[in-house]
Amino acid sequence: IPGGGTDSVSGRVRVAVRLRPRNAEEMAADADFADCVELQPELKRLKLRKNNWDSDTYEFDEVLTEYSSQKRVYEVVAKPVVESVLDGYNGTVMAYGQTGTGKTYTLGRLGDEDTSARGIMVRSMEDILVNISPETDSISVSYLQLYMETIQDLLNPANDNIPIVEDQRTGDVSLPGATVVEIRDQQTFMELLRLGENHRIAANTKLNTESSRSHAILMVQVKRSVLGREDDFSIENENRSHSVGNFRPPILRKGKLVVVDLAGSERVHKSGSEGHMLEEAKSINLSLSALGKCINALAENSAHVPVRDSKLTRLLKDSFGGTSRTSLVVTIGPSPRHRAETASTILFGQRAM
Ligand code: ADP
Ligand code: MG
Repeated sequence: IPGGGTDSVSGRVRVAVRLRPRNAEEMAADADFADCVELQPELKRLKLRKNNWDSDTYEFDEVLTEYSSQKRVYEVVAKPVVESVLDGYNGTVMAYGQTGTGKTYTLGRLGDEDTSARGIMVRSMEDILVNISPETDSISVSYLQLYMETIQDLLNPANDNIPIVEDQRTGDVSLPGATVVEIRDQQTFMELLRLGENHRIAANTKLNTESSRSHAILMVQVKRSVLGREDDFSIENENRSHSVGNFRPPILRKGKLVVVDLAGSERVHKSGSEGHMLEEAKSINLSLSALGKCINALAENSAHVPVRDSKLTRLLKDSFGGTSRTSLVVTIGPSPRHRAETASTILFGQRAM
């Protein structure tokens, strides 16, 4: 197995919770009510209020409050994953939560008006760009939307049904036909994100749905040429050759970063949805529960990760391997009216640990 068996990269899933500040509407409407959660970031604990005198306490790897900066969120959620991608491993960063709780704010915010607002996608690319050598290394990007078990290319709307192909030998996942763009600078990447977002809006208008009903998936392939050690397993087999004397031939390190802005996790109540809306809801429930099962299997170090159940998990298959890193941020809102959804998001995060 490429990349097999190092102790330095744990297969465990890191889970952070992030609370969005109250918005203007919540400040007005819920002025007399306490938030449904109380955070204790130093203790990495969250209390979910049951009533005025009682609450349940949960522990996370990291508790990010309404005051946590985008920079801090990047550092605790994504930076360790980006670092392992630079070392030649695969890594995934995902945001899970109810619509409106800050998944896109956390991952996809461009922050062109205010650089401190930049989200995880933009910060990850910045970090990758400063750490590679442009002469020998390469970065390439694809940007996709997964809607109702169909993969669409956000960089070229003509590709609206991209298949998932698995390499029988290496287990690597590829997406034939998906646009792959070489990235050399941050501007190109920002333009790509903007283009993808515009195509997403257009595609969803055509499909008569909302962005929150689909998963947005950014894939960043990093190929580096480094001088490695003989016992380094993170290199491609065919690029390994015996060293002669002190000469260490350059080896290729391939790492893939996948950033997933998941569809909104809110339950669509059966009574309120029918026809297309119901099909959409079923499809989202299918992929999120399949994802939950895979993450639970990873958390339990289970030998069997059930990736077959949905396109989302098949797509992430090579990021679920033994040396891959997975970081999950679950986003929640403070409103006491959304307590039930918040509770279900917290449970999803807890099961992943
Ligand atoms: P989601 O993608 O989960 O549906 P969004 O990221 O679109 O949610 O966030 C919903 C709204 O809340 C947006 O207006 C966003 O700017 C705001 N928001 C989300 N998280 C934060 C935060 N940590 N600080 C300030 N505003 C936030
Ligand atoms: Mg969103």
